[in-house]
Amino acid sequence: MTNSFDAVIIGGGILGTSISYFLSCLNDSKKIAVIEQAQNVAFHTSGRNTGKVHAPYLYNPERKKLFAKSAFHGYEMWETYAGLKKLPFKRDGVVEVSVDEKGINVLEKHLKWGKENGLDERDIELLNGEEIKKIEPEIECESALCVYRDASTDYAILAKSIMNDSQNNGTEFLFNSKVTKIKKEKNRLTVTLNDKDEIFAKFLINAAGGESIDIAHDMGVAEKLADVHFRGEYWKAPKEYNNITKSSVYSVPEFPEYPFLDPHWILRADGSCEIGPNAVPVFSPYGYDTAKNIREFIPKMLEMLGSGARKAIFDRRFQELAISEMQSSMSKARMIGRVKKFLPKIDPDKITEKGTAGIRSSVINEEGKFVPDAVLEKGEMSFHILNYNSPGATGALPFSAHIVNHLDKTGLFANERQDAKCGPWKFAEIIEKIQSRD
Ligand SMILES: Cc1cc2nc3c(=O)[nH]c(=O)nc-3n(C[C@H](O)[C@H](O)[C@H](O)COP(=O)(O)OP(=O)(O)OC[C@H]3O[C@@H](n4cnc5c(N)ncnc54)[C@H](O)[C@@H]3O)c2cc1C
Repeated sequence: MTNSFDAVIIGGGILGTSISYFLSCLNDSKKIAVIEQAQNVAFHTSGRNTGKVHAPYLYNPERKKLFAKSAFHGYEMWETYAGLKKLPFKRDGVVEVSVDEKGINVLEKHLKWGKENGLDERDIELLNGEEIKKIEPEIECESALCVYRDASTDYAILAKSIMNDSQNNGTEFLFNSKVTKIKKEKNRLTVTLNDKDEIFAKFLINAAGGESIDIAHDMGVAEKLADVHFRGEYWKAPKEYNNITKSSVYSVPEFPEYPFLDPHWILRADGSCEIGPNAVPVFSPYGYDTAKNIREFIPKMLEMLGSGARKAIFDRRFQELAISEMQSSMSKARMIGRVKKFLPKIDPDKITEKGTAGIRSSVINEEGKFVPDAVLEKGEMSFHILNYNSPGATGALPFSAHIVNHLDKTGLFANERQDAKCGPWKFAEIIEKIQSRD
């Protein structure tokens, strides 16, 4: 095995894997590696999410422009890819409900955003409480936004397939390899793995999810930004509830400026149903259990107190919401009660099995405000993708193509070819579509 690479990508989540796919498609002779500390791709957030291929109706076209555009094109790309490879992709739609009068304004706003982000009349419509009952008899609400261009998949399966394609293009995936140190030398970076082995990189792409801020800081990048981690937990519904609705059901988010959404009623691609996720503050991107959170509590608190995150954690509304999320983590009835408001048939006593939790890392700026869109930062011989949150899995393919194009156009990493057929897509056409909506 070589230990010198033209490009090293840290992170084998759906983002790093997709970036490696497009890079390896455009560069035959350049050596590309993905470094992943876990034993496979999509081991963390990318394989522990809600599995929705989201329609872009929840995203402000100005403030979440990159996410909204990527989600719109990501839908058609995943649909094509899953169709070709016979992977899970079920167009089952989503219904966003408002249980009171005041939420109707929000649904109207989401209808407008959805259309501005590319959805057409056939993809999305606003119905009143009686009209939705004809489609979804079990849902109780004042008003509902029905979004038909929304699907369910399994992103761990999609990421593994993209990894295989990337390997066939020549990418090396180094698993069980944690990047523990990065040292800049004259014309290259020395990257230490597991505190002992060394590899060398001419260029580094940081797609390390919940650790991306730490890696950026270690390289002197984005030092004014901080992050806070939230664990999203799920409960599995018993089989008797599998056909209670035809679509997943989300409720109107009450505090959209904070990363707390009310738990949803979720249809999984395999036909099962779950309730979740909540958003419980935790102290590590891998804080799935109490022991890990206790170990990371003091260092993470000290880090947050020394950054813009301090303002967020002393914000009264943030504290109230965080406490409420912690209560919903401790009390199953409380969490399920949030879904029962619009799906009264659900009986918490029948729900006994927990689902797989996933952790999101939200970036906070110096003013203590949550940053809405992905953050792209250039470093010396490096490029950093921070705050790559929901709907990141939906948009991973077009977003990655955009990054690979951006690196070439800004002279950071020149591609050998600027166009090629990458699987079912022509690279130039993906870029044209993303840029056509600027
Ligand atoms: C609860 C929840 C539900 C969600 N639901 C949806 C949804 O339904 N639809 C949707 O589109 N999006 C959803 N998202 C968002 C989506 O899952 C993420 O945007 C996406 O998975 C992020 O991918 P990533 O590759 O950036 O991060 P990750 O999947 O976290 O990958 C980063 C990888 O980097 C590795 N890494 C980090 N540091 C190092 C290091 N030092 N050395 C080696 N490896 C390292 C990690 O091990 C990890 O595997 C959800 C997120 C959460 C938390």
